[in-house]
Amino acid sequence: MFTDTHFHLRNLNELGIDVPSLFSELYDADFSFLMDIGTRCDDLENRISVAKSALQKLAEQGCSEKADAIFKVLYFSAGIWPDVDAIKDRSEQMKILRQFVENCSEKEKLVAIGECGLDHHWNVNGNDHRDESEFDSDLFTQEAEFFEMQLEFARELKKPVVIHSRDAFDGTLSCIKNVGYHNGEIHCFSYGKKEAEAFLDLGWYIALGGAVTYTKKSRMDEMKELIRYIPLDRLLMETDSPYLAPVPFRGKTNTPRLIDNTYKFICDVLEMDFDKFTIQMDKNAKNLFLQVETCAIL
Ligand SMILES: [Zn+2]
Repeated sequence: MFTDTHFHLRNLNELGIDVPSLFSELYDADFSFLMDIGTRCDDLENRISVAKSALQKLAEQGCSEKADAIFKVLYFSAGIWPDVDAIKDRSEQMKILRQFVENCSEKEKLVAIGECGLDHHWNVNGNDHRDESEFDSDLFTQEAEFFEMQLEFARELKKPVVIHSRDAFDGTLSCIKNVGYHNGEIHCFSYGKKEAEAFLDLGWYIALGGAVTYTKKSRMDEMKELIRYIPLDRLLMETDSPYLAPVPFRGKTNTPRLIDNTYKFICDVLEMDFDKFTIQMDKNAKNLFLQVETCAIL
């Protein structure tokens, strides 16, 4: 049994991944929780329709049982990634996000706000081609304001938040403390033990992805220490696919199907029974995003 709390189905589709076959494989591998993540103010309906038409195709191929089972465990978030254009247009973007959330055709499937947050990593070759000259202190302030708007929105809706935080630990901590709404996860956690402690103390979950499998040798002990430090009932598993494929698929297009590699890696570090570990990860995802009362089995 596997979970993937963070992937981008629309990007997988655009990269030529056959989504109906992917869903079929996820069914065969016994996925119990899947969450497609939003990055733009107006992408929610489009992402739902990508998922639905893939499920429809799967059903037409004679696998309606598989399609129904995957739909049952498939969920969505809605939020805005902090790219420079979105930050500058934040008030308008929030209005549009609100409209999409309020008019969502699958209301009970919308279980989180995000990914939203702070990204202070300058990468002209990255998704939004940001370079240092665009990111002055004024833009940092606006970015923080934009993040807090989404935290407030999540509080209003009583939904957990999927936080993106890169090279911006202090800013992220100060935004969540300012708003005082501590419900959600730090996705693709890329900081150390001390930073984890600060988020955990406030009640946040920590999500780890494929990047842990290719930690540099010199930092591997630190990574293992971090993995052992996160309480088992506050850990989430994710791929961030199509990005960040785990070893031995590094550099290839990632899909939720590859998450077993990350599961195995983390389970080995924890020296845990694999089945027990998968059951706990399932409980954690449902506990945070579906607010199912669970008692830890460990
Ligand atoms: Zn993502």
